[in-house]
Amino acid sequence: MKQIIEWLKRLPVIWKLMISVTLLFLILFATYNFAQYMVLKYWMLNQEQDTLHVMMSQVQDYLEDLPVKGESLQSAETNAYLKNILADNQMIRLLDKDGREQMLATNEFNPLWIKPLPSTIDSLEDVRYGEDHILIYRAPVVINKETGTIEIATNLETFDHFNTTLLWVMVIGFLLAVCMSAISGWAIARQFLRPVKMLALTIQNVKQNGLQERVEHIENGDELSQLAGLFNELMDQLEVSFRQQKQFVDDASHELRTPITILEGHLHLLDRWGKNDPIILEESLQAALQEARRLKGLIQGLLSLSQAESSVIAHSMEPIEIELFMTQQLQRMENVYPQFTFRMNIESKGRRVRIHPLHLEQLLFIFIENAVKYSGGHHEIDIHCYEEKSTLYLSIQDYGIGIPASEIPHVFDRFYRVDRARSREIEGTGLGLAIAQNLIQHYDGEIALTSVEDEGTCVVLSFPTMPL
Ligand code: ADP
Repeated sequence: MKQIIEWLKRLPVIWKLMISVTLLFLILFATYNFAQYMVLKYWMLNQEQDTLHVMMSQVQDYLEDLPVKGESLQSAETNAYLKNILADNQMIRLLDKDGREQMLATNEFNPLWIKPLPSTIDSLEDVRYGEDHILIYRAPVVINKETGTIEIATNLETFDHFNTTLLWVMVIGFLLAVCMSAISGWAIARQFLRPVKMLALTIQNVKQNGLQERVEHIENGDELSQLAGLFNELMDQLEVSFRQQKQFVDDASHELRTPITILEGHLHLLDRWGKNDPIILEESLQAALQEARRLKGLIQGLLSLSQAESSVIAHSMEPIEIELFMTQQLQRMENVYPQFTFRMNIESKGRRVRIHPLHLEQLLFIFIENAVKYSGGHHEIDIHCYEEKSTLYLSIQDYGIGIPASEIPHVFDRFYRVDRARSREIEGTGLGLAIAQNLIQHYDGEIALTSVEDEGTCVVLSFPTMPL
């Protein structure tokens, strides 16, 4: 049994489905056929018994009336009456109280098959004589104050014959139905598994040919076509993210190559002339240090970006009480940039946002650092915090060099820096805004940036709020 179960488990799904469907049909059909056969058999037997009952009461009435009519048991009329009432394969016999035969009428029935048996009550007996199946009905009778027994027997040969034929018809019908259910089960399973097979084939092709393979879409709206649709969507996403990753690696290696090349150039310069020329030595060392700092910044930025891009926020999302948080941050900023004036206005007292404090700090740092870096000598920065329709807005406004309108759509791209020649003087990696964009997406927040060249830039962060 265990081996059979193991063997069944290892079968392909199509065979499992076919066997299950066939078995189900088999059980249903067998139960139905068996029930039908039994009902028919017992119904027909009942019919036979009813016929015998009717016959018995007719014979009883007739025989009991004989003395009244003055006829004898052996008269030609009695014989004719009994012969007339008898059907094929039947017998009527009258016994006296000691079981001696008084009268006999048969129609293709051998009376020796049945032993005479007087009876004082109505009784029905079902006996087998060789191949024959006989039903005997015995009932008492009183003729001329003498008690006796009437025996009516019928050979159920026709009934049995009919039963056997019925059984065969049902068995053949059953076998045909099982074959048909096996074939249709196989066809249904094949049809049902077609999309799954196509899916498996596509996955195989993806393995061999790459991410551009898709499942042929079947538009019938069932779960399997939904699965195919979902698979295609997943493949689209994977392809996009794969391309993005590739782009990211290309961009990152390109960005990393520039400071390394400059660093190498300065080291060559030092190697050739710098050892004896203190001016070249000093200049090259400073330049090399600057490029090393830039490299460090780039690597740090790449690391933060990769963390921000990962969809899982590993840290817990404790709600932050915004007023307290911003007051602490202002203190820090004033310490880091003492030459700058930060004007802060908080209107959303007693509000909380669900964001990790380190992430909010990182976001603030990116925008404040940009406001400082691109301040163009204007040392005022305005921070405004307000709430509207369950959304907390946090704006950082500077009055610096601003961004040309045509450049604004690109500033959130990775490594994008407005006017590279100008940006070279200001240290940066072009990763800050990309990191901020990725971070804020995890908290259902948004960033809006407006800027006017030579007037300043305003960045507005928005997050859903929660009551205290
Ligand atoms: P970076 O490290 O270069 O500052 P960011 O991604 O933070 O990188 O910014 C991308 C570019 O957008 C910057 O190089 C700069 O040109 C421009 N930018 C960002 N913030 C400001 C701002 N407050 N004022 C002017 N330009 C800005």
